[in-house]
Amino acid sequence: MADTVSRRSFAKIIGAGAAITALPPMVFIANGQTQRGNDLARLHFNENPHGPSPAARKALENVAAVAWQYPGAMRDALVTALAKLHGVSTDHILPGNGSSEILHTAGTTFVTPERGVLVADPTYEALEQYAASAGAPATKVPLNGSWAHDTKAMLATGKQHGIVYICNPNNPTASITPKAAVREAIVKTPPESVVIVDEAYAEYVTSSDYESVVPLVAKHPNLLVLRTFSKIHGLAGLRMGYAIAQPALLARLRARQARNSLNAAAIATSLASLGDQKWLEESLVRNAASRDHAIAELASLGFETIPSHANFFMVNVAREIRPLADAMRAGGVAVGRPFPPLTTHLRVTVGTDAQMEKFLELFRGIVS
Ligand code: PLP
Repeated sequence: MADTVSRRSFAKIIGAGAAITALPPMVFIANGQTQRGNDLARLHFNENPHGPSPAARKALENVAAVAWQYPGAMRDALVTALAKLHGVSTDHILPGNGSSEILHTAGTTFVTPERGVLVADPTYEALEQYAASAGAPATKVPLNGSWAHDTKAMLATGKQHGIVYICNPNNPTASITPKAAVREAIVKTPPESVVIVDEAYAEYVTSSDYESVVPLVAKHPNLLVLRTFSKIHGLAGLRMGYAIAQPALLARLRARQARNSLNAAAIATSLASLGDQKWLEESLVRNAASRDHAIAELASLGFETIPSHANFFMVNVAREIRPLADAMRAGGVAVGRPFPPLTTHLRVTVGTDAQMEKFLELFRGIVS
């Protein structure tokens, strides 16, 4: 009987498989595109079109052999590597299914309807959205004239917040908040509030006015630093991010996190990517060259860009960007949506040289 059932369900699976293979090919890998066979330039999600590294690609092939196993041991290996990278012990690292999973867990754990989130305006909106789902409000403080978090004004809100969120570099502006201001914000925030410093784009920054706050975790039990493999590592599609914080703070998140939320492919590729330093450096150089070239071209057309410290930039096009973005999409280039209140600034992810040429050509045609 059991045999019959399993044979029948097996036949069902094969049938489903046949139906799936009959679908038009959805994914093609060349040039990092994932559209249905077209060549849309994806300059809208701050992905890295150069990744993943050759070592990560190899790891992805090899991982098939262990796909049947729960990934506990692999997870431990990644945690060990990350702890070594950041000079902390392994109990200071909590990986997640993208840093989004950590933001979601934190955004629903450390807030109440009375103690919401304190954020810059504009900034990466996910935390605010997750907190809202827990009934917690957001207090928004505009970026200052240098496009940095106005940490003085944030500290002066006078309210108790569940979370103070500092996105550095900031998305969508690609600007940085100077290290002294971030330090002061961490030191002066009351210990009952959790300070989240989101360093998703930290690897791209070369400014001496910037620092990662990972070393401050040792002194501040309420500090949570976020990193991701979605940006410089070029692994956005596989989902891996992590938090660095003191063990007691991480324990509060771990208690709420789904078990086995990580997957073997993401772990294997992330580990391999960490070991491919040369590729990461090349990625950095390529990004800076394409970005600076595009920004210089835009300047020659009279358009000013917010100084960028990441793999994207915001250019002031001095008009509502929606029609411009729609026209670019029709021409095969996807750019960022409007990010209120900056509705005349266009956010553009740095793509390959060919994609940036296509962007510039379209842009010139539309604005001339
Ligand atoms: N934090 C910031 C500032 C981001 O820009 C993004 C993605 O764009 C994320 C977090 C989410 O990254 P992940 O892919 O690790 O979930």
